[in-house]
Amino acid sequence: MVAAAALNSRTGRKVLAGALIGFTVVVAFLVTPLIAVPFAIAGSAAGGTVKQVDAAPGVSGEWGFPLAGGYSKGRGFGYNPVQGCGYCSTDHQGYDMAQGCGATIFAAGHGEVITAGSYQGYGNTVRIDHGGEIVTLYGHMQWDSLRVSVGELVTAGAPLGAEGNTGKSFGCHLHFEVRKSGTAVAPEPFMAGLGLPLK
Ligand SMILES: [Zn+2]
Repeated sequence: MVAAAALNSRTGRKVLAGALIGFTVVVAFLVTPLIAVPFAIAGSAAGGTVKQVDAAPGVSGEWGFPLAGGYSKGRGFGYNPVQGCGYCSTDHQGYDMAQGCGATIFAAGHGEVITAGSYQGYGNTVRIDHGGEIVTLYGHMQWDSLRVSVGELVTAGAPLGAEGNTGKSFGCHLHFEVRKSGTAVAPEPFMAGLGLPLK
């Protein structure tokens, strides 16, 4: 009866539609981190399809996922050679995740952008200083895709640039790195501790 009454007025319909959209967004948030994108899909995306993923990533408190929705896990942290890649590091300092070339990469937390451009072997890179000696790094982004600059203050979920294959990279992916007092730490437990488990 309430719904019927609501549908009888223009405002009621708007409110009802708004509630439906809100509900859909919440469900999408809850479900998307759980969906695994098979490597085959990421592989075909690497073939040239440019994704424009501008949905907001899952955020928990002041931190969030660097990609919105499902992704393929690449190399984890630690000793992890890349087969067929002589120039890739064997001692992996970060956590590789792929959605496809061009996928939007987001700030994992609030802080100040301290790098926005070419950085060592990481290619086109953004680094964010979160204070407390914690820095996150987003490597291998496409050239000319950066949407932030040095000195800019960002919050979790701010779009940084597009997933790419620059620097010492072997296929489009995001190299996500977390440094504490200048030393790379494993991103999985760090993110899990923030309520944002990587897979
Ligand atoms: Zn990596």
